[in-house]
Amino acid sequence: SSPAAARLDLDGNPVAPLTICMIGAGGFIGSHLCEKLMAETAHVVLAVDVYCDKIRHLVDPAPPHLAGRISFHRLNIKNDSRLEGLIKMADLTINLAAICTPADYNTRPLDTIYSNFIDALPVVKYCSENNKRLIHFSTCEVYGKTIGSFLPKDHPLRKEPEFYVLKEDESPCIFGPIVKQRWSYACAKQLIERLVFAEGAENGLEFTIVRPFNWIGPRMDFIPGVDGPSEGVPRVLACFSNNLLRREPLKLVDGGQSQRTFVYIKDAIEAVVLMIENPARANGHIFNVGNPNNEVTVRELAQMMTEVYANVSGEAPLDEPMIDVSSSQFYGEGYDDSDKRIPDMTIINKQLGIAAFLNDTSQGFAGDNIDISAQDIQGSCQKANVTGF
Ligand code: NAD
Ligand code: UDP
Repeated sequence: SSPAAARLDLDGNPVAPLTICMIGAGGFIGSHLCEKLMAETAHVVLAVDVYCDKIRHLVDPAPPHLAGRISFHRLNIKNDSRLEGLIKMADLTINLAAICTPADYNTRPLDTIYSNFIDALPVVKYCSENNKRLIHFSTCEVYGKTIGSFLPKDHPLRKEPEFYVLKEDESPCIFGPIVKQRWSYACAKQLIERLVFAEGAENGLEFTIVRPFNWIGPRMDFIPGVDGPSEGVPRVLACFSNNLLRREPLKLVDGGQSQRTFVYIKDAIEAVVLMIENPARANGHIFNVGNPNNEVTVRELAQMMTEVYANVSGEAPLDEPMIDVSSSQFYGEGYDDSDKRIPDMTIINKQLGIAAFLNDTSQGFAGDNIDISAQDIQGSCQKANVTGF
């Protein structure tokens, strides 16, 4: 039987095949979402991006069994009149396009603001005008810093969840001053969220906003000098993979004390597919998507990746596997950081039953401890054509 015939939504109704305009389909999240939709559903994807390297195996050319299911549209949404036609052809638009690497926020703040706010405006407008559903990708970074971070370091209230757990409909958005240009990204994302929300409230736009909390896995970003600019700075998983490959110490920014909760991309994608196929449960909501039980400091992450790499490569770690660097050395002036990011998962669990779906009754995603698998590092390293994995 076809995958479509087999698919039911969470209320037991058959899921009709959709045409999905996926903007930013050639990126990290988009490539995994395209793979999943092709493998397990009958939905049709109009994949929009300026690059297709990460989905080449699906689109260049599409393998025979995917004929008619996926097409690649190379266009820049900044200035291409074909965008509206693609949105009109689709039942649902998913917007993933963004500049979303922190090294860019303080060094290219104009591009960051344009990409995350101005360039997303027409997408929202076309969806609203044409009565099309929109799933817009925002970020956990819209929460900024935790309330607890403003308390003295050893204050007991810092341990109370209401001082750090991030809730979609309650937590404030706390950013640093304008000179800390790090927050240009968060601020642009916040404003586009407010615009999408307002289109829903005033004009009836059917929308879902997704706030990913550090999704990681193969194909994340690039390895500098291998499949990206040699002076480029990707997100932490690719930075550390690059250091390990080059047998350099991992660089801990400002002591590596910041905390993150990481979630494996394939777990997170399950949540996105549930949103796609359960519009009545997903529309009008903002969803955190992360694993609250998977918290580490950046220093702990570095230690784990060093151990995993030693195991898979057979090379002993360096005598000095990590070094401290200041954020101004590493990122330049205007960098600032989120101290801690624990997602509250109540809303997404209530609406989409993520916990039940992923077979973990407690908190949403399987696993109590951070799980940086060899596969994650391998995925990043494959791009560098490293053999021996
Ligand atoms: P990514 O950089 O891998 O993917 C973004 C894609 O958008 C890229 O392929 C890029 O070429 C494309 N794009 C950018 N501008 C475009 C334009 N003008 N026209 C056409 N295509 C354009 O990033 P990702 O990790 O896949 O993130 C996707 C979305 O999720 C982003 O909106 C990001 O802010 C958000 N997000 C991701 C994470 C995470 O953990 N990966 C965390 C928070 C937020
Ligand atoms: N970081 C680091 N060394 C690196 C790259 C990043 O210490 O080589 C830190 C960074 O300062 C931040 C955390 O790792 O505290 C996560 O950074 P990432 O770029 O992945 O994105 P973020 O979670 O801040 O959006």
